[in-house]
Amino acid sequence: MKDFSEFNGRYQSDLTDAGFDTLAVRAGQVRTHECEHSEAIFTTSSYVFNSAAEAAARFSGEVPGNVYSRYMNPTVRTFEERLAALEGGELCAATASGMAAIYSVCIAHMQAGDHLVSSRSVFGSTNIQFERYLRKFNVDITYVDLLDIDAWRAAIKDNTKMLFLESPSNPLTEIADIRALAELAKETNTLLVVDNCFCTPALQKPLALGADLVIHSATKYIDGQGRCIGGAVVGSAELIEPVVGVLRSVGPTMSPFNAWVFLKGLETLGLRMKAHSENALALAQWLEQHPKVTKVNYVGLPTHPQHELAMSQQTLGGGVLSFEVAGGREAAWKVIDATRMISITANLGDTKTTVTHPGTTTHGRLTDEQRDAAGISQALIRIAVGLEDVQDIIADLASGLDAL
Ligand SMILES: *Cc1c(COP(=O)(O)O)cnc(C)c1O
Repeated sequence: MKDFSEFNGRYQSDLTDAGFDTLAVRAGQVRTHECEHSEAIFTTSSYVFNSAAEAAARFSGEVPGNVYSRYMNPTVRTFEERLAALEGGELCAATASGMAAIYSVCIAHMQAGDHLVSSRSVFGSTNIQFERYLRKFNVDITYVDLLDIDAWRAAIKDNTKMLFLESPSNPLTEIADIRALAELAKETNTLLVVDNCFCTPALQKPLALGADLVIHSATKYIDGQGRCIGGAVVGSAELIEPVVGVLRSVGPTMSPFNAWVFLKGLETLGLRMKAHSENALALAQWLEQHPKVTKVNYVGLPTHPQHELAMSQQTLGGGVLSFEVAGGREAAWKVIDATRMISITANLGDTKTTVTHPGTTTHGRLTDEQRDAAGISQALIRIAVGLEDVQDIIADLASGLDAL
């Protein structure tokens, strides 16, 4: 076989000082002797050894190398190295879903008798996971208002191990002061875990703001085209290694095919997040002046009460906004049902614009009192703005709004 070491030398560029988009395209790639330009997909469950002695050395970890794809896989590793580079973290662990990423972090870093403080405004399944599958193992949980730093401080007890949040929140786009909460976490010897799904590292890097761990649902903007389910955790080696241990023994690892899809998604992440943000801002500005719209929640708008804080920690507003219409649930449903192009689905982070009515879907299980406390009115509509021409998105919403 031809010796490709010289060829590999030619293409092993030093990316130490490379910019975000360069890392997004090139970080983590190791070419094989086939000289493929794009990244290969390694669909293999196990790996062969040259001898029994080599197998023994690989299994014991004495010699690094591939053993079994629940433990490591070259395509998954390329995705992990690329996302770690983009988030500015030492290590990344890829998982089968965003929920698997959250649970792996929880069981790696907490045990029975520990306490978790979580923002009240987290993804619905995250809330269910905490309530059903952490409490049963005697992990105590306190929910606090995302914006109320004093409430976070007051909730922390001697046994608190972790603080958990999403920013911007869904669907109200409230902003956590990540720097202040990172300070609080350091002071109280707790871990600050940030679900960075809505911003992605293209817009916000929580580790640089002082967070300890970043969580992703790769299903959303990292894929960007609504194809695969996956997740990831990024942070220091010290905090990621225990998570890798959980993945290896519990098993919710990422498939190589999905890793490849996400890897190609990362290559256009910067461009897409910019385009999602531009479309969302244009739509938010149009909604703000519409006579039937009573409120618009979008962090990119200068009128957002936390616009300044948001712009000090994220570079653009991102693709998700929500708004209220005059006329409550009936009016909100009319606007949704009048759309012809926009997809009625709860997913987000897709090239295709999606619309949901949080009050009767994602937040439908809450009691009226809980919904009021969370600020989710029946007049609220959430839009995850896609990459269609913005005038077409506006026209699709205008048909229902103008008819109210
Ligand atoms: C979708 C989502 C998750 C869960 O991710 P899955 O890939 O669906 O398991 C977690 N957090 C946020 C903010 C999400 O939007």
